[in-house]
Amino acid sequence: MRVIHTDCLVIGAGLAGSAYALHAARAGLDVQLLSLGGPSEANSDWAQGGIIFDTSARPDSLARDIMTASDGMANPAAIEQLVKEGPTAVRELLLDELDIAFDRETGGELELTREGGHSERRIIHAKDLTGHAILSSVAACVDATPHITRQMGSVAIDLLTLSHNTDDPVDRFEPLTCFGAYVLDGESGEPMAIVARKTILATGGLGQVFQHSTNRPGTVGHGYAMAYRVGARLIDLEYVQFHPTVFYGLNAPHFLITEALRGEGAVLVNGRGEKFMDTIHPRGSLAPRDIVSRAIHGEMVSSGDPCVYLDLSALKPDYIRERFPYIFQRCLEQGVDITSEPIPVVPAAHYSCGGVHTDLNGRTNVRHLNAIGETGCTGLHGANRLASTSLLECLTSAKFAAQADIADIAANTFRLPGPRTWQSPQREADPALIQQDLGLVRQTMWNYAGIVRSNRRLTRARRILLELREEVQSFYSDCRLSGDLIELRNAVQTALLVVHAARLNPVSRGCHYVVDDD
Ligand SMILES: Cc1cc2nc3c(=O)[nH]c(=O)nc-3n(C[C@H](O)[C@H](O)[C@H](O)COP(=O)(O)OP(=O)(O)OC[C@H]3O[C@@H](n4cnc5c(N)ncnc54)[C@H](O)[C@@H]3O)c2cc1C
Repeated sequence: MRVIHTDCLVIGAGLAGSAYALHAARAGLDVQLLSLGGPSEANSDWAQGGIIFDTSARPDSLARDIMTASDGMANPAAIEQLVKEGPTAVRELLLDELDIAFDRETGGELELTREGGHSERRIIHAKDLTGHAILSSVAACVDATPHITRQMGSVAIDLLTLSHNTDDPVDRFEPLTCFGAYVLDGESGEPMAIVARKTILATGGLGQVFQHSTNRPGTVGHGYAMAYRVGARLIDLEYVQFHPTVFYGLNAPHFLITEALRGEGAVLVNGRGEKFMDTIHPRGSLAPRDIVSRAIHGEMVSSGDPCVYLDLSALKPDYIRERFPYIFQRCLEQGVDITSEPIPVVPAAHYSCGGVHTDLNGRTNVRHLNAIGETGCTGLHGANRLASTSLLECLTSAKFAAQADIADIAANTFRLPGPRTWQSPQREADPALIQQDLGLVRQTMWNYAGIVRSNRRLTRARRILLELREEVQSFYSDCRLSGDLIELRNAVQTALLVVHAARLNPVSRGCHYVVDDD
C-alpha cells in the first residue's frame, strides 16, 4: 500500500477546503488537497445569490436576522464570530487579493442585494453566478501556490485513528486521535494512506441523500459518515434545509432559482395566481426558507398541483436578462421565457445546518481532526440557515482553523505511526445494485424524512436504511472498492444519522417539522 506523509490533509476542495489550503500553504505547511472531481466541481461553484459582506451600517441587525432565521437556536458566540470576522475574511481574499468581479453600481461601489430572511441589503454577488466567480478564482490561486498538491478524483474512504488503524496495541489507550485517512487513489484506483498531522473535513453537505436536491451529485455527507465512524460528535443533523424554489418540469434538471429574485420583487403564487405567502408571514415571499418551503409543500398537498409559481411580473424584462442571465438561459432551455411567464418551482434538499460539532477554530472532539464549511457545525445556523451565510462561513471557518493549526504544528511534535495495510478484495461490485440501493436511500429520505416528518415515517425510514446498511456492508467487505461503493456506503450512513437525529427530536423547529401521527 502506498503511504504518503503531509502536514495537512484537506478532504474537499470547495471554498472551505481551498481557502484553508491557501492559508496553511502560505505558512509553509505541506498540503494534500483531495476532491471527487475537478477544481470547480463543488457546490461552492454553484452558489448563485451571493455572499454577505456589508454589515457596516448596523452589524447587530445581521446577528438578529441569523438568530431569527435559526428559530432562536443559533449559537450566539458563532454568530458573533461570523458577523465580526466574516467581512474581513471576504475583503482580504476575495476583494483585496483576488479582485473578484462582483457587480458594482455606476459609481463603482459594490452592488448590494437582499434575500429571504434579511432585513437589509448586504449581499454582494457576481450576477447570478457568484459561486463560480469566487471558486474559479480561488482554485486558480490554489494551483499557483507552492506546497499544495491537488489530488482530483481521489476519494477519502475512512479516517485513520490511533485506536483503530495501527498495529501497536498500546495505541488503543490513547485519546481519540486522527492521523490522516485511507484514500482511493484517483490514478491507480488502489487504496492508499495519507498520514497527516492535521486532517480537515471539508466535504460539504448531504443534499444528495434526498431524491430532490439542489446539490451536486456525490454530495452525500462523506465527511459526516467518516467522522461518525471514528467517534466524532455530530449535532443538529435533523435540521436539513429545503430550498423553496427549484425549477420544476417533468424530467427537467433540478436547478436552483435564487432567492435574490424574490429579493428583487418576484413573488410566489399558487396555480390560481394567489399570493399565498402574504397570509403566512409578515415578510411574504421573503420569509425564512423553512417557512416558505413548508407553505409551498402545504399548497401542493391541498391543491394536488405538482408545483407553485414564481411570478416575475414586477421585474422589467431587460433587468431580468441582465441581472439573472444564468437563470434566464436555463429556464429558456426548458421552454420557459421568464421575461414573460412565471417559473414553476418546488422545494428541494439544499443545506445541512448540522454537521460535525466543532469549536470556533474548527476543532472536533477527535484530536487533530477539524471540520470546516458545511461539514462543520459550530451551531451558527441553529435550526435553519439564513441565506448567503454559507460562503461567508466557509471563508471564516477556514481562516480560523488554519490559524489554529499553524500555531499548533509550530508548537508541538506529533507522533505519526505507520497505518495498517488495507486489504482490498478483487471481486467487482454489481453497478446496477449500487445504483438501485442509492436510489432507495434517496427515495426513502424524500418520502419519510423530508419537509414534513412523523414518527411513523421516520421509523419506517430507519428500518429500511438499517437493512440496506447491512447489505452495503457486505458489498463493502467482499468487493473491490470504487468511488460509487464508497458513496453508497456513506450515503446510507449519513441518511441513518439524519433519521436518528430526527427521531430523537420531537420538537418542530426551523427546518425540522414533525406532525403527530397517532
Ligand atoms: C445550487 C446552490 C446554490 C447556493 N447558493 C448559495 C449562495 O448564494 N450563497 C451562499 O452563501 N451559499 C449558497 N449555497 C450553499 C453553499 O454553496 C455551500 O454550503 C458551500 O459552498 C459549501 O462549501 P464547502 O466548501 O463546505 O463544500 P463544497 O463546495 O460542497 O465542496 C465539497 C468538496 O468536498 C469534496 N469531497 C466530498 N467528499 C469527498 C471524499 N470522500 N473524498 C474527497 N473529496 C470529497 C468534493 O469533491 C468537493 O470538492 C448554495 C448551494 C447550492 C447547492
